[in-house]
Amino acid sequence: MTSSSQSASGLRRTYPLYVTVLLFSLIVGSALIGVPAFGIVYGYTWVDWTMFGFLYIITGLGITVGYHRLISHRSFMCPDWVKAGLLIAGGWALQQSALRWGADHIRHHAACDQDADPYNARLGFWHSHCGWLFSDQRYSDEKYATRLRQDPVVMWQHRYYRPIVLSGLAFPFFVGFLYGGLGAGIGCFMLAGVGRTFAVLNSTFCINSVCHLWGSQPHSQADSSRDSWLVSLLTFGEGYHNYHHTHQSDYRNGPRWYNFDPSKWLIFMLSLLGLAWSLRTANAADPRSSNC
Ligand SMILES: [Zn+2]
Ligand SMILES: [Zn+2]
Repeated sequence: MTSSSQSASGLRRTYPLYVTVLLFSLIVGSALIGVPAFGIVYGYTWVDWTMFGFLYIITGLGITVGYHRLISHRSFMCPDWVKAGLLIAGGWALQQSALRWGADHIRHHAACDQDADPYNARLGFWHSHCGWLFSDQRYSDEKYATRLRQDPVVMWQHRYYRPIVLSGLAFPFFVGFLYGGLGAGIGCFMLAGVGRTFAVLNSTFCINSVCHLWGSQPHSQADSSRDSWLVSLLTFGEGYHNYHHTHQSDYRNGPRWYNFDPSKWLIFMLSLLGLAWSLRTANAADPRSSNC
């Protein structure tokens, strides 16, 4: 999804600003007012809560394993169909296509804490959490997308991003509908569609805000990145952000066996099944281990 809007710096805005404002207002308003109001008036069923949990896990891992560790950092390799599955799950999180997300993320690592960092934490919590969506730094820089454009699966997901998003919103509606008709479909859509999207968006945003402001820096003080085990509980292991910034291409963000990092567990399990290989670690003699 692209538009032709162009900034003075030559970087391209992925959406016109008013679209971002409308989408943001719709999601925040629906999640903070519509979802609780629907629950108070009609109540939510066990199906709605199960779908909420199921889709939180599926779409969260789509972002952390698919968008982040696989596409942005190439921390492991896998068959195209596994990659496509991860990118569909990531697309359901409504965080833009893997091409756009990855380009922004690579830029974040390349220019951390500087003006070109899209989530620059030096501008404060709200900017790095979600304020960046409305700033000029929202413009994607094409040079960070160059490598990603070579990947046909990434380009396929980019091309079909809208239908993927719509399928992710339709999925909970149809599950609820099959369970109890139209009202149940709307209820499942509200909780597992709108509410879950809001929850996963904020868990991802916390990596850029909380994990650049609060926590420990046991691995490096070269930038503002921090380790936070608490954030890892909500983000499938991504809270060990200081380690990640220090060893970007390690398939683990929490390197120790006791670190809560379900994303690394999934990648390791895939490797045991022969569905992932070339898992990169900081200790391996891999010249790319600290690069994207
Ligand atoms: Zn970071
Ligand atoms: Zn990263």
